[in-house]
Amino acid sequence: MRLSADVVVIGAGVAGLRSALALASRRHVLLLTKTALATGGASARAQGGIAAAVGPGDSPRLHSADTLAAGDGLCDPAAVDVLVREGPDQVRALAALGTRFDQLPDGSFALGCEGAHSRSRILHANGDATGAEMVRALAAALATERAAGRVEVVEWASAADLVVVDGRCAGVAARLGDGTPLICEAAAVILATGGAGQVYARTTNPPESTGDGVALAWRAGARLRDLEFVQFHPTALHVDADPLPLLSEAIRGEGAVLVDGSGTRFMPDEHPQAELAPRDVVARAVWRRLQAGGRVFLDATRSPGEAFAGRFPGVFALCQRHGLDPRRDPLPVTPAAHYLMGGVAVDLVGRSSLPGLYACGEVACSGVHGANRLASNSLLESVVFADRVARDILATERQPIRLPEDAGATAIWHAPDAGTLAARTVGEVRNLMWRQVGVERSGPGLRAARRRLAALAAALPPGPSEAANSVLVARLIAAAALARRESRGSHWRVDHATVPRRRAG
Ligand SMILES: Cc1cc2nc3c(=O)[nH]c(=O)nc-3n(C[C@H](O)[C@H](O)[C@H](O)COP(=O)(O)OP(=O)(O)OC[C@H]3O[C@@H](n4cnc5c(N)ncnc54)[C@H](O)[C@@H]3O)c2cc1C
Repeated sequence: MRLSADVVVIGAGVAGLRSALALASRRHVLLLTKTALATGGASARAQGGIAAAVGPGDSPRLHSADTLAAGDGLCDPAAVDVLVREGPDQVRALAALGTRFDQLPDGSFALGCEGAHSRSRILHANGDATGAEMVRALAAALATERAAGRVEVVEWASAADLVVVDGRCAGVAARLGDGTPLICEAAAVILATGGAGQVYARTTNPPESTGDGVALAWRAGARLRDLEFVQFHPTALHVDADPLPLLSEAIRGEGAVLVDGSGTRFMPDEHPQAELAPRDVVARAVWRRLQAGGRVFLDATRSPGEAFAGRFPGVFALCQRHGLDPRRDPLPVTPAAHYLMGGVAVDLVGRSSLPGLYACGEVACSGVHGANRLASNSLLESVVFADRVARDILATERQPIRLPEDAGATAIWHAPDAGTLAARTVGEVRNLMWRQVGVERSGPGLRAARRRLAALAAALPPGPSEAANSVLVARLIAAAALARRESRGSHWRVDHATVPRRRAG
């Protein structure tokens, strides 16, 4: 099957939906997504909320200062400036589009506070279902464009490779769920494929987050950046599930504390901000206790206590599904791979180094997160930069290149079936990455991981597949982690441990 469009968007999370919507009135858009529209991806799972300086006593300057402090010296200040200045308007635009953010009785936004934010600036929806509400509203708006024929959506379509003609990204080779090959030619391609948490055994990311966009961009020759910076969320519910249920930081924002197996609170000894310290600090404190054979719990029994079910209905239901009542039971926690700060290197309008290829959302590295993402900045980055990508494309007139008949013919694609070499490979990659390229890393561990990953890559059949993407992305993360001989932000090298430079507040 062959399709032609002005723009192909790969991915239907917040970033993909937002960019498609911003383009739809003036460009013919083709949107590919691995699952059904409005399901899948990290966006629909985002709990805590979206950060923006919209509250009294807050300002883009303060939001910028918090973002830069969390990023530990590696943020791109120009990108942060764009994020915090355009954020409030983007949030209002989302509300105008139909996103029902929680409000106070006077009609103003109800704002929460999360780790390392100096002000309450986290908008949320339905308590802790912010991402799902944003996806619902964006998908509903897109349905109107779809009905008018301005956007074509192909569900259950996996992008397998980018097609490059004369040094320009000119299309995408994909496979439909039944194996039918699909070639899409386009004047511009937007990668909005989300993160790569599934290369780790413990992750909060959904099955789709296999890092496909990073692998596609790498194979096409686009520049990548900051891949060593993987954020590990300190409080995933430690149960037998994949992905692990997330216990949002907002719960700690509302007074829940971390305790060890003896019920003793330990974070005040680790950092002046205690449970609301930057995520990497909290994740390492939890990891070390687990590595020492102990257990760690999030104790929400006193605060938010009885208010838990009302304030965090989604998390409450998740806990109940695993036989836990957060009002009575301390909740067992583990760190889990949560967010990829690095990705496809892009400029301030989302252009990658490969002409014709854009990236936005978690797959992109715009420089706003540096070495560590400030909580709730990723939904904001997704919408702010998706809109910028769309505006840049709208400012350029370009026709799709007619692709040769055999374009993408070598792009086979298959998701691993249980029990196959591919599935076993993915399982081994995930365990290896968790043990040796995870919360704490060392030179010898990283070198050993790289050797094993190279052997796993060599044993796979040639051609793009989900398994090949997993191994490739794992190898790229491990190589970047070995190259950075310092500890900074989320990247902690036990053999290059330093005192973190960032301020406490
Ligand atoms: C449990 C959880 C809670 C979170 N909470 C928050 C929060 O409160 N606040 C916040 O700011 N951030 C939060 N995050 C992070 C945030 O949700 C993500 O960074 C953000 O949603 C990424 O959006 P995205 O559109 O880039 O990617 P996603 O929403 O992950 O969407 C990616 C899309 O790409 C598709 N796709 C992937 N590969 C292919 C392929 N090969 N071909 C076709 N389609 C493909 C997927 O099917 C999906 O549609 C959370 C993340 C998780 C996992």
